[in-house]
Amino acid sequence: MILDGKFGKYGGIFVPELLIPALEELESAFLKYKDDKDFNTELDYYLREFAGRPTSLYFARNLSEKLGCKIYLKREDMLHTGAHKINNTLGQGILAKYMGKKRIIAETGAGQHGIATAVVGSMLGIPVEVYMGSEDIERQKLNVFRMELSGAKVIPVKTGSRTLKDAINDALRDWIANVENTHYLIGSSMGPHPYPMMVKHFQTVIGKETKNQILEKENELPDAIIACVGGGSNSIGIFSQFLDDEEVELIGVEGGGEGLDSGKHGATLCRGSEGVLHGSLSFILQNDDGQISEAHSVSAGLDYPGVGPEHSYLKVTDRAKYVAITNKDALRGFELLSKYEGIIPALESAHAVEYLEKYAKIPENEGKTIVVNLSGRGDKDMFIVAREMEVKI
Ligand SMILES: *Cc1c(COP(=O)(O)O)cnc(C)c1O
Repeated sequence: MILDGKFGKYGGIFVPELLIPALEELESAFLKYKDDKDFNTELDYYLREFAGRPTSLYFARNLSEKLGCKIYLKREDMLHTGAHKINNTLGQGILAKYMGKKRIIAETGAGQHGIATAVVGSMLGIPVEVYMGSEDIERQKLNVFRMELSGAKVIPVKTGSRTLKDAINDALRDWIANVENTHYLIGSSMGPHPYPMMVKHFQTVIGKETKNQILEKENELPDAIIACVGGGSNSIGIFSQFLDDEEVELIGVEGGGEGLDSGKHGATLCRGSEGVLHGSLSFILQNDDGQISEAHSVSAGLDYPGVGPEHSYLKVTDRAKYVAITNKDALRGFELLSKYEGIIPALESAHAVEYLEKYAKIPENEGKTIVVNLSGRGDKDMFIVAREMEVKI
């Protein structure tokens, strides 16, 4: 390895020896192509023509009036497949092509990353196989169908809790066995080095656009940026371009589930402790014996017991602040944005919207300029929201 992949003491490479050559190959390919002209021309082309970039930085006039702040929404919800995930799957998909890989594997929880990978595989002509917990397959039949329509094969995982963390373990096993022809396309800024660095790189496009757009509209930097945190990729993507601008407050919003004291939440940074999960050192949810706890959130994207290592570093160095919003409060955010702006957010993004409401109500924040990263759209969540609202559809 050329780099150690550490953010302070977090991150690194905690994997079986057998995986090291694969990670080395990936690191060197990524470092070679990330500044390569042809690679970037191709990536920019597909980000624009296939995914729909740039996304707008939309001034939310009604919400601004209501909350007494200047509120901008970074519209990642407008992208193909409905969320920021496509930025990373395009980046890694094209990298896999440059590396000559003939097969892509991925893991998925609710199916969003699986879909973003499946469509990119279809577009590039590379077969995709997606590991998914059998419990999740049962809960997310529509997304399984979407992946299959895009030509991907969905492989049920029947071990452990039969959810995302078990799917990641099986995908890692597959990769060890097939590393020569296969790229493992991880969906968030987590996992062993070089994934956190690489996924961040492919998501920095959010932060770069946001910075240019806000300077054009306001002639100055925002006072605060708010983004939801599952594995941490949309948030690190937008935070990345403001890390050195100390005056910009960076706030990550985790899934508070049924409350931080309920034991049923996904608030890894707010309530977790240091440990190793899926190849890197970070904050994780674990019991006193170091067993991984199950995460809980109404939004599948925030339902992960780990978090990308750079966020652990930003937390302990106080560069970013992390808060949690409960399921119930997230629904308020969901309704607020839908009603006032005509924009139905993903449940993940609704956590950030609801924290915005709380933040704007603090007297010293009156009149501030705030950017909320709207990581995705809510179409996928309609049935869950209707159930929570006790509406029959
Ligand atoms: C997957 C997902 C998330 C959480 O993932 P991050 O890596 O933390 O960004 C957030 N919002 C949406 C819409 C998602 O699909």
